[in-house]
Amino acid sequence: MGQLPSARYFDEAATLIGLSPADRKLLLTPLREVKVQVAIRMESGETATFLGYRVQHDNARGPMKGGMRYHPHVDADEVLELASLMTWKTAVVDLPYGGAKGGISVDPKTLTKHELELLTRKFVDQIHDVIGPHSDIPAPDMGTNAQVMAWMTNQYEKYHGHSPACVTGKPLELHGSEGREEATGRGVSVITQALLRKLGKDVRGVTIALQGFGNVGSYTARFLHEAGAKIIAISDATGGIHNHGGLDIPALLKYAGTGQGVKGFGGGSPVTNEEVLAADAEVLIPAALGGVITRENAGDIRAKYVIEAANSPTLPEADEILRRRDVVVVPDILANAGGVTVSYFEWVQNLQHYRWDLPEIREKLEKQMTLAFESVWSEAAMRKVSLRTAAFILAVSRVRRATDLAGF
Ligand code: NAD
Repeated sequence: MGQLPSARYFDEAATLIGLSPADRKLLLTPLREVKVQVAIRMESGETATFLGYRVQHDNARGPMKGGMRYHPHVDADEVLELASLMTWKTAVVDLPYGGAKGGISVDPKTLTKHELELLTRKFVDQIHDVIGPHSDIPAPDMGTNAQVMAWMTNQYEKYHGHSPACVTGKPLELHGSEGREEATGRGVSVITQALLRKLGKDVRGVTIALQGFGNVGSYTARFLHEAGAKIIAISDATGGIHNHGGLDIPALLKYAGTGQGVKGFGGGSPVTNEEVLAADAEVLIPAALGGVITRENAGDIRAKYVIEAANSPTLPEADEILRRRDVVVVPDILANAGGVTVSYFEWVQNLQHYRWDLPEIREKLEKQMTLAFESVWSEAAMRKVSLRTAAFILAVSRVRRATDLAGF
């Protein structure tokens, strides 16, 4: 367990709060790990067999919550790491949930829509008895979307009857929530502004470099641009662009929205992905892949503040280097928790058979994220530790307390 990056941060927090070896083992050991065969008949007539996973890490604070990822790299280790991150993430933003994660080792781009639907329904056939609105609630992640969540819900309901709260991230027409799609980017923008306020800085005119222009990156850019920030560099899988005067974000959203990515956008000059990470901006927001800030490039980062919109974008050795260089890092378990927060709102609406409008969702999201930021900031100041360590201390303490109170 020691090799997982989050287990390193967990250990650091556990030492600072004096957690016993027995408690550490209890809190790190997953409740249940499921690995299933998912076999479907392809349109070619061939049989294709995939592996599906669901790891349920901890349910001390409530039903477990976490995404379903369809990606060729999905394996037992990756799913366990992401499931435990969900336990700490839901605890740090104080949602009444535990943590889980799952997925299928498959490249969904190689499947037809019909095959993707078959695969999803077969996966639910294999795991429907261990998930559910009061035990473990899946959501979208890389390679899955609202359509996949609709199929998942429908297949689950064939066994268990009407239960829209069994999955979140559903389409609006099928019990989804207003504001779910924008939620993670909106949360990143709320957290960035909360940090700048703490530091006595005005968001207007602050310079930002952003890696990733997918769901999270594009909404982050939109909301921070609307707040007056100057986004000077952006990269995605197609390449990068830079404009020291600030990129025209509405025009870029329109350009990239046609499916071609940011490459070739006329309002800036081309740069590499590495140049975006090392751009001369005050804030760096990695919002694409994990593991992009490494021992090799951490010294080149010129930003004073890093907001981790992606999951695990900073490797632990790089985190050390950034700490030594006094770069303030807002950790993923806080910075990108807007998505799971609005997933929680969707679940609450489904359980109540009621709907909230977009202004209400946005107001509740801002309140929840700001409160979480304030708690992490105070903990860090009181203990003189990094925001990441403070976030882990808060999360681990909350899970441990709930575990103790419930008893065996
Ligand atoms: P997405 O698939 O919509 O977008 C990913 C973006 O990363 C795309 O713009 C893609 O071009 C870019 N990218 C891929 N490879 C790249 C590379 N080599 N260099 C630069 N850019 C590259 O995914 P997303 O939903 O926006 O998720 C982004 C990150 O945020 C992931 O780490 C995900 O786990 C995390 N996250 C997402 C959510 C959510 O609600 N979507 C919630 C929490 C965390």
